[in-house]
Amino acid sequence: MTRSRMVVVGGDAAGMSAAHQALRSAQQHGRELEVTVLEATEDTSYSACGIPYWISGEVDSRRSLIARTPEVHRQLGVDLRTGARATHVDHDAGEVHWVGPDGEQRLGYDDLVIATGAPSIVPDWARDASGAPGRGVQVVKTLDDGAWWIRALAGAPKHVVVAGGSYIGLEMAEAMLAHGHRVTLMTRSRVMSNLDEPMSDRVATALDVGGVTVHTGAAASGVERAADGSLAAVLAGDLRVEADLLVLAIGVTPATEIVQHLDLPRSRRGALRPDPHGRLADGLWAAGDCCDVRHRITGDWAYLPLGTHANKMGRATGDTIGGGDLTFPGALGTAITRFAAGAAYAEIARTGLGLVEAQEAGFKAVEVTTDGTTASGYHPDAQPIALSVVGEQGTGRLLGAQLVGGRGSAKRIDTVAMALWSGSSVADLAWADLAYAPPFATAWEFVSLAARRLAERL
Ligand SMILES: Cc1cc2nc3c(=O)[nH]c(=O)nc-3n(C[C@H](O)[C@H](O)[C@H](O)COP(=O)(O)OP(=O)(O)OC[C@H]3O[C@@H](n4cnc5c(N)ncnc54)[C@H](O)[C@@H]3O)c2cc1C
Repeated sequence: MTRSRMVVVGGDAAGMSAAHQALRSAQQHGRELEVTVLEATEDTSYSACGIPYWISGEVDSRRSLIARTPEVHRQLGVDLRTGARATHVDHDAGEVHWVGPDGEQRLGYDDLVIATGAPSIVPDWARDASGAPGRGVQVVKTLDDGAWWIRALAGAPKHVVVAGGSYIGLEMAEAMLAHGHRVTLMTRSRVMSNLDEPMSDRVATALDVGGVTVHTGAAASGVERAADGSLAAVLAGDLRVEADLLVLAIGVTPATEIVQHLDLPRSRRGALRPDPHGRLADGLWAAGDCCDVRHRITGDWAYLPLGTHANKMGRATGDTIGGGDLTFPGALGTAITRFAAGAAYAEIARTGLGLVEAQEAGFKAVEVTTDGTTASGYHPDAQPIALSVVGEQGTGRLLGAQLVGGRGSAKRIDTVAMALWSGSSVADLAWADLAYAPPFATAWEFVSLAARRLAERL
């Protein structure tokens, strides 16, 4: 039997899921497969999602964020090369060019998986002469970035500007406040702009209560430096905010340069668009943050760079290469985060389409926001919760929901996500048999109550 060669570029969520599932699948299907992974850094399979909580001190060490070390991957049968950066794909020759400790090399493949992720955006004005983020400026992407922040924040309290009002910006603001630093957040449009405005306003209120100075409509556009080169201020148009440190959390860009010259399905921003098995072309595959995903409600491509999708896409891709048939069924845009500081505590979550997104997608959409509690109002564990539910006028179709609430509220979004996943209507959600006892819910469970109020309007 001929031994097939699979090469994966990128050794984190998508790449290592693909590598291990391919080995399992090949074994199940009686195939001979050798799997090599090229990873540019020395780290594999770590939780980037946990980095803000490591910086805040809630997670105690770098080590606890690593799910599988390079040694463990090798023991499990993957030929993992770290410090190995792929530079070019010669698909006609079936070779990937890469640079490692021993210089430039080539590696032949039968199947190549692009799982290169999406580095954080660093605008030119934030870079030094070497092209790296300038003094006092850093992104939050890798474990090394996390270690940088822990070093930079040591000592006397500092004034930290956070550029970016989305998940990572909020999580970093929380981490800075946990150490007594002063935080100003600048965001191009609104805080959590992927929520509809009334829900986004609730998040802005939580930031205010937590002590963050928020500038909306303020896209960071430059820095001022002191005579010694240290960071002095961050600029956003006419706005000037003195700062010791700047967190850049203004988005990511799919890392697809190594296949840029190939004629492959991709978006304008460069995200690859594989089929549900992860296939881009014969022998060429992609998974994770370097890809768009299919949105299950609009049917369109969407760029939703999240670990939940990266792991699943990698698994489907690896399974197919190994001889299986798993597919990635698309995404709903479900996401969750938290902002907690002092008296402020807000859990934030969304799934499906918000009102504006639904209207933009052409739905005759109706939205109702309901305020309530996570437990019976008389119970001491009751926390406030607000749920905005969106449905389609006429058909009663459930389209999405957004939530801001107190402790224990946010995972209720999963009830809505599952209803969306299975094609339930707003009325189905209103009448669903959801669990109730006073410490956990109200008699009309809050999600059903909110759906019922919308159903009455559809
Ligand atoms: C601070 C933070 C918080 C987050 N929180 C959440 C969360 O709460 N929930 C959630 O679902 N997602 C979250 N995410 C997103 C999640 O971490 C990513 O979606 C996930 O890591 C994507 O996995 P990936 O394998 O596609 O890409 P990455 O994890 O980016 O891995 C890509 C790998 O490829 C390597 N690589 C790139 N180019 C090359 C090359 N040319 N040659 C060799 N190697 C290369 C990189 O070094 C990297 O190790 C968060 C991300 C960050 C940064």
